[in-house]
Amino acid sequence: MAKELDLHRRSMPKQEPFERIRNFDEVALGYTEELAQEEAGRCLNCKKPLCQEGCPVGINIPEFIRYIVEGDLQAGIKKIKETNALPAVCGRVCPQEEQCESRCILGKKGEPVSIGRLERFLADWEASKGRAEKPAMASLNGKKIAIVGSGPAGITVANDLALLGYEITIFEALHAAGGVLTYGIPEFRLPKAIVKREVEYVKSLGVKLYVDYIVGKTRTIDSLFKEFDAIFVGAGAGLPWFMNIPGENLNGVYSANEYLTRCNLMKGYLFPAFDTPMKRPAIVAVFGGGNVAMDSARTALRLGADESHIVYRRSKEELPARAEEAENAEEEGVIFDYLTLPVRLIGDDQGWLTEIECIKMELGEPDASGRRSPVPMKGSEFRMKADAVIVAIGNSPNPLISMTTPGLKVGKKGNIEVDEATGKTSRDNIWAGGDVVTGAATVISAMGAGRKAAKAMHEALSGGK
Ligand code: FAD
Repeated sequence: MAKELDLHRRSMPKQEPFERIRNFDEVALGYTEELAQEEAGRCLNCKKPLCQEGCPVGINIPEFIRYIVEGDLQAGIKKIKETNALPAVCGRVCPQEEQCESRCILGKKGEPVSIGRLERFLADWEASKGRAEKPAMASLNGKKIAIVGSGPAGITVANDLALLGYEITIFEALHAAGGVLTYGIPEFRLPKAIVKREVEYVKSLGVKLYVDYIVGKTRTIDSLFKEFDAIFVGAGAGLPWFMNIPGENLNGVYSANEYLTRCNLMKGYLFPAFDTPMKRPAIVAVFGGGNVAMDSARTALRLGADESHIVYRRSKEELPARAEEAENAEEEGVIFDYLTLPVRLIGDDQGWLTEIECIKMELGEPDASGRRSPVPMKGSEFRMKADAVIVAIGNSPNPLISMTTPGLKVGKKGNIEVDEATGKTSRDNIWAGGDVVTGAATVISAMGAGRKAAKAMHEALSGGK
């Protein structure tokens, strides 16, 4: 008899909004084993699992879900780890609604299986047991690899090549590893202990990690070649864009990078226990509509802002943030000013921001991105009060590496150019992947690029053996 369809997903317990805006603890609390089993039981175990095709690293989703149904959680997490070294991270921050879950057959009639929540459940279950099973490792092959940057792209390359017997050293510019996972995404969405645990796991494979080491300054790529056979560049996109409107130099205007780095990496939210002062503005306006904007607006609320606004030039339908995070922001009281474009920032005679001049927008014809483009409405200018602005409209790669590495080809926005199939750059024995190639994207796409590059590096260095 055909399985009866269970069209509704089990909701995940969360901290209540009134409670969570007063702390930096994780908002979502994760499934209990009982809820996970019920949710896993909704999976139809399709003969042709489209969900797996929707996953950029090709996790065998139906199989790990089946293990949950059978109660064999160890086998479930092992299955995920065959293709994903960072399951606790991906289970929390991947845009599943656009990837695996968007392809789930159940989604056609009801709600798709909560694949991300089940992935998170298994990773957290393994962590609660305090033991992480390591896959089989090849013996050392005598080849040495340097990796620039310890974000998801660099960590994935380190994991994959360490398992294949390479001696790996990661060079990280900041004082802590993890890339955006550590300095960008806030504690309430991705606890740092989880990132640390996953970085420690990769180090336990024999990977060496140097922090406070800026490749291009401390040492150039070319000088690394005296010691290493090949190099992977996973340096991310850490150079923030600004609006280029009058008043952006006023006091109280931040890039989201600076704001979130102060709060997360430098623990500004724990001031004065940590020595990072952070302004506590009353009215904050965040420009942008992606995950970075949501994280900034929600951080501002937790730091005591009376009002935290998202100022976005398109409408709710076009918001690029994960649906769950936009919903969380709304629940917490973030105010969404849609179809609004800031055109000028106004300050007092001491140079401090006081107001923002905006113009209302309407949606016109679709642009190159396929989204309807916002068009200013004549005469609709208005002003809003604000004592802080956080600009979260995008990033591009820092030019340091390309400027200090002759022959490394970059595109117009400073992105390193690579062969799409392999991640190989224009220079011999240098590969690259993640945001440094694509511009600001997602954790899983950076991991997918890392996996592709690791495979190609292995083929090139071992003659395909
Ligand atoms: P990064 O994570 O940026 O790591 C690059 C590392 O290289 C950094 O640690 C940097 O310090 C280091 N580095 C740079 N230059 C040098 C140098 N010269 N020498 C040595 N080290 C160097 N994605 C999602 O999928 N879901 C989300 O919910 C999500 N939320 C986000 C929220 C915020 C606030 C931000 C900023 C991004 C978010 N993203 C999200 C995007 C995602 O985090 C990135 O796409 C991903 O981290 C890119 O990985 P990466 O390894 O390419 O680069």
